[in-house]
Amino acid sequence: MWFKRDLRISDNHALLEATTAEEPLICIYNLDSERILRDDVDGIHIKWELDCLSVLKIDLENLGGNLIFNFGSIIEKLEEIHSEFNIKNIFSNEETGLEWSWNRDKAVSKWCKNNDVNFYEFPTNGIIRRLKSRNNWKYLRDKRVDSKLIHSPKIIVSPSNFISNKILDIETLGIFPRKLNNRPKPGEKAAIEMLFSFLDDRGRGYRKGMSSPITGESMCSRLSPYISTGCISIKQIIYHTRRKQKKVKKNPRSSENRGFSSSLSSFLSRLAWHCHFIQRLEVEPTLNEIAINPELDNILNRELDVKKFEAWKNGLTGWPFFDACMRYLIATGWINFRMRAMLQSVASYTLWLPWRESGNHLARLFLDYEPGIHWSQVQMQSGVTGINSVRAYSVKKQSLDHDFEGFFIRKWVPELKKVPNEFIHEPWLMDEISQKESGCIIGKDYPKPIVDETESRKIGISKTYSAKSNPLVKVRSKIVYELHGSRRKSKNKKK
Ligand SMILES: Cc1cc2nc3c(=O)[nH]c(=O)nc-3n(C[C@H](O)[C@H](O)[C@H](O)COP(=O)(O)OP(=O)(O)OC[C@H]3O[C@@H](n4cnc5c(N)ncnc54)[C@H](O)[C@@H]3O)c2cc1C
Repeated sequence: MWFKRDLRISDNHALLEATTAEEPLICIYNLDSERILRDDVDGIHIKWELDCLSVLKIDLENLGGNLIFNFGSIIEKLEEIHSEFNIKNIFSNEETGLEWSWNRDKAVSKWCKNNDVNFYEFPTNGIIRRLKSRNNWKYLRDKRVDSKLIHSPKIIVSPSNFISNKILDIETLGIFPRKLNNRPKPGEKAAIEMLFSFLDDRGRGYRKGMSSPITGESMCSRLSPYISTGCISIKQIIYHTRRKQKKVKKNPRSSENRGFSSSLSSFLSRLAWHCHFIQRLEVEPTLNEIAINPELDNILNRELDVKKFEAWKNGLTGWPFFDACMRYLIATGWINFRMRAMLQSVASYTLWLPWRESGNHLARLFLDYEPGIHWSQVQMQSGVTGINSVRAYSVKKQSLDHDFEGFFIRKWVPELKKVPNEFIHEPWLMDEISQKESGCIIGKDYPKPIVDETESRKIGISKTYSAKSNPLVKVRSKIVYELHGSRRKSKNKKK
């Protein structure tokens, strides 16, 4: 059994098939050496993955199983195991990743053919391999995620005298990831606990609370790091959410169910987005490099201004709410959807920075980095798909909407702690006396705005609209829609 991003025992199709095959079972996890050098990968990802793997290893051993950990090349490790144990079958779950992981999987498939080994891959979640048309996608996805959960194996039979080896400490690879505040507990059991804390209590306020970084912290499910390592499957989450929905329908006014109804539907639609975006990567594994609409990307022709990029990366733009969000993300490895969209759109529209560089930076900051969602969203929030509306977030509006009193700003940008409420969103408007009184001299203790936000945003929006009207871009957008567009009708069209 080759574990990849499916680090769980339950609802694991490949594992169940592997344990019911006639042969004794060896479990393997390979940390690909090329991964740690990639621009989109950070030590926090590797550490999180290996911590989740350590939990899985104990769970496997409790069932009589084992786990070989390897750092390097999967093919070389398979050769080694094959020469000792004569592998008959390899079981694994399908993974939708960037080109490097496709190439690795193709190499394993070829190795299996050359060595007369059967290679079985099983679908997980709602991503459809070799999809013929987007028109059928929703039907196929719903059928997949609503199918029965796969039960856990009761026992694993290992080859005699076979024992697991040690999982590497990443420090020995020279990786010292940044420490995250409140990093979640790793592993499958912790994922299930997180899901139930959401469905039993925290999720009540999801719909209203998800857009603010303050309420989103507790009201969002916070399942993303577990989903990205496969400690929990989308099927499991949907299954338990639907059970909760049934309870709520039966008895909506009981204290445990009150307020949940609309939040659960919103949550289910987010889970559908998960599969929708990863399906894009399944079709185009180069989303981190090539824009979905390359003609549009060419015309936009964004430039890497190092000064702007550094200010953006480090939360030193001079826009308090933006800086607070970036610093919160650096400290915790997580931020809610709306703020991620703002961070990306400010880079792409307001600062006109290239999306590949900003996208890689955000990927390294997110503990839950999931290439399919990430690169689809980065491209969407940068206006390079041609099929999505231009959405350039105003920092000032988000600041007023979500942090009117400046509570979040003061916590994450302590330079502004004593700035009075009337200036907290735009401290550069303080006169000299107010700056002195609040202990914050603009340009010295806290930066001046890197550019005029309103003006630069407007210019970014208008350049994008004008590029979208180019005939070549329009032709490409039609093709993109056929390939990737959501078939969900907008409310107006439905009417
Ligand atoms: C620029 C940008 C980059 C992003 N990069 C990632 C990423 O690398 N990994 C990642 O998991 N999410 C990413 N997202 C989507 C979203 O912000 C996160 O899934 C969400 O904030 C994770 O927190 P949660 O699990 O509490 O989400 P909840 O709101 O509780 O949602 C539950 C799950 O639904 C899925 N989901 C929620 N919102 C979206 C969405 N808009 N698109 C697709 N799936 C969604 C996720 O799997 C999420 O874990 C990105 C969004 C943007 C704008």
